[in-house]
Amino acid sequence: MTESPGSTPAVSRPDYRLPRSLAAFERACRVIPGGVNSPARAFGGVGGTPPFIARAEGAYLHDIDGHRYIDYIGSWGPMIVGHAHPRVRESVSDALALGSSFGAPTERESEIAEMVVDAVPSLEQVRFVSSGTEATMSVLRVARGVTGRDKIVKMTGHYHGHVDALLVQAGSAATTLGTPNSPGITAGSTADTILCPFNDLAAVEDAFARFPDQIAAVVLEPVAGNMGLVPPRPGYLESLRDLTHRHGTLLVFDEVMTGFRLAYGGAQARFGVVPDMTALGKIIGGGLPAAAYGGSSRVMSHVSPVGPVYQAGTLSGNPLAMAAGIATLRLLRDEPPYERLETLSARLAEGLERAARDAGAPHVVQRVGSMLTLFFHDGPIHDYEAAKASNTKLFARFFWEMLARGVYLPCSQFEAAFVSAAHSLDDIDATIAAAREAIKVAVGK
Ligand SMILES: *Cc1c(COP(=O)(O)O)cnc(C)c1O
Repeated sequence: MTESPGSTPAVSRPDYRLPRSLAAFERACRVIPGGVNSPARAFGGVGGTPPFIARAEGAYLHDIDGHRYIDYIGSWGPMIVGHAHPRVRESVSDALALGSSFGAPTERESEIAEMVVDAVPSLEQVRFVSSGTEATMSVLRVARGVTGRDKIVKMTGHYHGHVDALLVQAGSAATTLGTPNSPGITAGSTADTILCPFNDLAAVEDAFARFPDQIAAVVLEPVAGNMGLVPPRPGYLESLRDLTHRHGTLLVFDEVMTGFRLAYGGAQARFGVVPDMTALGKIIGGGLPAAAYGGSSRVMSHVSPVGPVYQAGTLSGNPLAMAAGIATLRLLRDEPPYERLETLSARLAEGLERAARDAGAPHVVQRVGSMLTLFFHDGPIHDYEAAKASNTKLFARFFWEMLARGVYLPCSQFEAAFVSAAHSLDDIDATIAAAREAIKVAVGK
């Protein structure tokens, strides 16, 4: 962290000031821990205090100080069709007029479930929940219920929400039992979590050797987005598929970020590897709180009320969230933006790469589809150890220089940037032009 919260941002541009946001932040800090309802928003990785957002439209965020930003956070993934899309707004307001929650079944829930099952190869049935955390938590419970086993394999640096069993830190060995990485999590709740480095098949083989017939599930982000963008090595997902099959273990893809993002059918469609269970979130709710998990009808028949594995939610399948999700998925299905996203994102990645090279900064740009990260790191990154070795001080300076130039990147070296269908070629080129200046300034400091 380059600055303590509350200090002014470290930017050289004299015209970039955030007085209203700073006042709003101080007010928020009095009644909300750290002023935010999710820690990623607090700028812990870059220092300074965040702009407060007044509104968003298409590819742009507008803060309460009157700045406009080209947005590459997209609410951390959901806003793939752009902010305040007219079709999504219409769909939600139609639903709102009919009542916002009933606690009884609605046809919209089946409509979106049919769309999701049609789109995602591994799914025959889905259960809707309200957050990605709930989806991954429920997946683990079902996997344990189905297999009658307790242990879970998780990859270091992968994020699956704030589920107790998955908030674990690695020890020094390649394969380790997780220990809690937050106070308030009991040793017991992480005792059945085995950690392996991402992209290291031998570590997973070792886990199976050490815990024969005890591992319920191997859970991972098929393309890691929560340690910056880290793709799977060629063949890695296929090998995990074979290995889990052989051991009677469920392969679980956490596609909360990659679902409907890397392809309409998610990473599993893009890479042609079909897991046993899938967690979805973010895009599926079109910017409202919705997430889902599912698998084959056989696996999902274990979920209550059909089966014995309990899982429930008062606001699950909420009509407004379903309406936003349906409108978003319809846009993605009927007017697929994926080819255009590929072109725009490739252009952005190349531009950032060139900007970093010309400024003499250590760098590697990693990208899959419309998710990308410029790491200030020499050479490719395949796991969390390597990601952690990036120059985060340089990243923080770069981030603020970009913000001052009207580009809102994720406020951490360890998050992926998202391109949306609302970004234009001009937006991409303006971003590259800003990056050329920003990296030079950041390196010079
Ligand atoms: C965002 C995310 C989650 C958690 O989703 P929430 O809705 O924030 O609870 C889980 N897994 C992955 C891969 C994510 O990116």
